[in-house]
Amino acid sequence: MTEQIREHPNITVLENYFTIEIITEHHLGINVTKRSQNITCFGAYVLNPETGKVDTYISRITLIATGGSGNVYGVTTNPEVATGDGVAMVYRAKGAVENMEFVQFHPTAFFYPTEKPAFLITEALRGAGAVLKTYDGKEFMHRYDQRLSLAPRDIVARAIDSEMKISGADHLYLDARHLGKKKLLEHFPTIFAHCLSKGIDISRDMIPVVPAAHYQCGGIKVDEFGRNNIKNLYATGEVSCTGLHGANRLASNSLLEAAVFSHRAAMDSIEAVKTIEYNNDIPVWDAEGTVLNEEMVLITQTRKELNSIMGSYVGIVRSDLRLNRALVRLKILFEETEDLYRKSVVTKEICELRNMISVGYLIIKMALERKESRGLHYSLDYPPRGN
Ligand SMILES: Cc1cc2nc3c(=O)[nH]c(=O)nc-3n(C[C@H](O)[C@H](O)[C@H](O)COP(=O)(O)OP(=O)(O)OC[C@H]3O[C@@H](n4cnc5c(N)ncnc54)[C@H](O)[C@@H]3O)c2cc1C
Repeated sequence: MTEQIREHPNITVLENYFTIEIITEHHLGINVTKRSQNITCFGAYVLNPETGKVDTYISRITLIATGGSGNVYGVTTNPEVATGDGVAMVYRAKGAVENMEFVQFHPTAFFYPTEKPAFLITEALRGAGAVLKTYDGKEFMHRYDQRLSLAPRDIVARAIDSEMKISGADHLYLDARHLGKKKLLEHFPTIFAHCLSKGIDISRDMIPVVPAAHYQCGGIKVDEFGRNNIKNLYATGEVSCTGLHGANRLASNSLLEAAVFSHRAAMDSIEAVKTIEYNNDIPVWDAEGTVLNEEMVLITQTRKELNSIMGSYVGIVRSDLRLNRALVRLKILFEETEDLYRKSVVTKEICELRNMISVGYLIIKMALERKESRGLHYSLDYPPRGN
């Protein structure tokens, strides 16, 4: 498919270009609020990696497909580009975003703190008989669910989280030793090789595991054709919220969703584009008064703080106390980062940080608004009622 895209005469691929903002009436000097009707997308401001300047792209239809936001958390299976850019851009543009409180954590990522993204240990290994164990090697899943290590993803993730909190351990174990080297090599060669490369022989050693942020069920709110309430704006893939995943995604549904809704969005926009004109009054990006930020530590340290706040207070198990605590701390990061952003020449790093803070804020805000435990959002203050 990639080859066909590159060869297609109507498609230009710009690699490593970084979208900063979608363009709306706001950029024409019009006051846009959440209550504004008929906000329209006219294109996007994009950071050109070759010149370091921000280019203006005027479009009749814009589709956002920037993926998930796992990097809001310190441990994630997501690639490093998953920083929630699309969600943050649409939120700033006053478009609809929903269900951000539903963050799926994969229960068993390989525990190796310097490895990013975290390597995923597939559920198939538990399906084949591997068993979860505490830090001191004892089985514990019988205390949480009769399906033991094969309970659904959210239940296993919560059980691991609970055991880690009780013991203070920074990881637990998945024991696959009894499956034997032959079977492990035959059925799980990638896991075997990866763990071995980090010094763990899974036929002899237990696998250190930890839950990791894995999938964003919410996102840019779209209809059945991938359309947001901002006119001429579409979103598909993990960045979008079609509602298909509800409050708790079933494994493997996301690629299917991305394919179906991208197709629908394409079909719809082929018709829609016929009646849309380009807006040629868009101003160029205003970089006046900004200077190159020489201190990368201002960004890296804030990112660590964000990860720490989200992991400690907005993780698998939440409470109003933890969420409010997170909100207060995030506000400080938000103000410091907005100040830095206003003064700095834009870079991918500062934009991603800014976007992750917005996404963190949205997760917390929507989690606080939900006065119940549902699907992936579990609150100690509102225990589940058998939903
Ligand atoms: C380890 C792992 C295993 C998974 N296994 C499965 C599975 O078995 N089945 C399943 O259905 N799903 C699975 N998923 C989920 C699924 O892979 C993702 O939901 C899906 O790949 C997301 O696709 P996407 O096109 O929306 O985003 P991505 O594939 O993440 O693509 C987003 C693109 O947007 C670019 N981008 C981001 N921000 C910007 C910006 N500001 N400007 C310009 N470009 C930008 C990125 O560089 C990237 O190229 C898995 C996920 C992980 C992490």
